[in-house]
Amino acid sequence: MKDVPMKRYTSMRVGGTAGMLLYPADSADLRAMVSRLTDSGIPYRFLGNGTNIIVSDDGIRDALIRTTKMSRLHFTKTKDGAVAEVGGGFSLKRFIRECARRGLGGLEKLYWIPGSVGGGIRMNAGSFGQTISDTLAGIDILNERGEIIEKQTEPGNFGYRESIVRRSECVINGRFRLKNADRDQLQKDMDYVYQERRLRHPMEYPSAGSVFKGVDGQPAWWFVEKAGLRGYRIGDACVSDKHTNFIVNMGHAKALDVAALIKKIKDEVLSKLGVALEEEVELWGFNG
Ligand SMILES: Cc1cc2nc3c(=O)[nH]c(=O)nc-3n(C[C@H](O)[C@H](O)[C@H](O)COP(=O)(O)OP(=O)(O)OC[C@H]3O[C@@H](n4cnc5c(N)ncnc54)[C@H](O)[C@@H]3O)c2cc1C
Repeated sequence: MKDVPMKRYTSMRVGGTAGMLLYPADSADLRAMVSRLTDSGIPYRFLGNGTNIIVSDDGIRDALIRTTKMSRLHFTKTKDGAVAEVGGGFSLKRFIRECARRGLGGLEKLYWIPGSVGGGIRMNAGSFGQTISDTLAGIDILNERGEIIEKQTEPGNFGYRESIVRRSECVINGRFRLKNADRDQLQKDMDYVYQERRLRHPMEYPSAGSVFKGVDGQPAWWFVEKAGLRGYRIGDACVSDKHTNFIVNMGHAKALDVAALIKKIKDEVLSKLGVALEEEVELWGFNG
């Protein structure tokens, strides 16, 4: 697909077009695609579910390699649980449900994070005190030289929303070491997480999740709130009333509005509170 409207492929529902959208079926296909693009001098990026990205109104000329078809899932029993091998494009939410169905715990607090497993590993996604790297034991990646490499991982390799996966690398598979757990308890934990999210997050509007990273253990919403920006609006981009670290699209927001609101928040928080907020969301195509 060419000139693909990114509004359709990102949860923020804003942005211009991307040069091309490609769906590799498996790792061999992915490798061939990357090699063809490299030979043709076409820049490329990897896209999962597009839930942590804001694309500019001018769009990007890069080809996007969307991983959602790379979604195999396989469980191998161990003494006290199982190792799950899961494709980078698998829905994280669905993966967690599959684990719970088998009575396997370790990821349940990440339930309802709307991304893919690969996007989650790249972002070291986390919620309710759990991060994806806590149970991650290994990954297969395609690197910029076109090599498929297996890496062992440990939680210590990852930071707050930071991972060992570089922008030029694609997560093909993740291997998770999961422990046997009580099915009913897992379901209760997942129900709790879902209810809390519904209560605390503006799930009724398009967004890209938390816009800023926390600072020294203090959540970012606190600074936005203190700076008096709850409900602040530029065009149809608005600081959510429900959770001030979310910018929501009230209908027809432009990427320009979202970017202006991000700048406004950073400026106000810096001038009023002396704190420099850093984006957790990725901004694509805003620098020329
Ligand atoms: C309503 C809402 C709630 C959210 N709540 C949370 C939360 O509680 N905790 C949290 O951490 N995040 C949260 N997020 C943010 C987002 O869901 C996570 O960052 C998620 O892990 C991103 O996955 P994705 O597949 O959508 O990645 P994308 O947005 O598609 O991509 C994000 C980054 O990952 C890269 N990427 C994607 N797939 C791969 C791959 N296979 N290999 C290598 N790189 C890849 C992309 O190039 C990009 O750099 C929320 C978002 C929304 C909209």
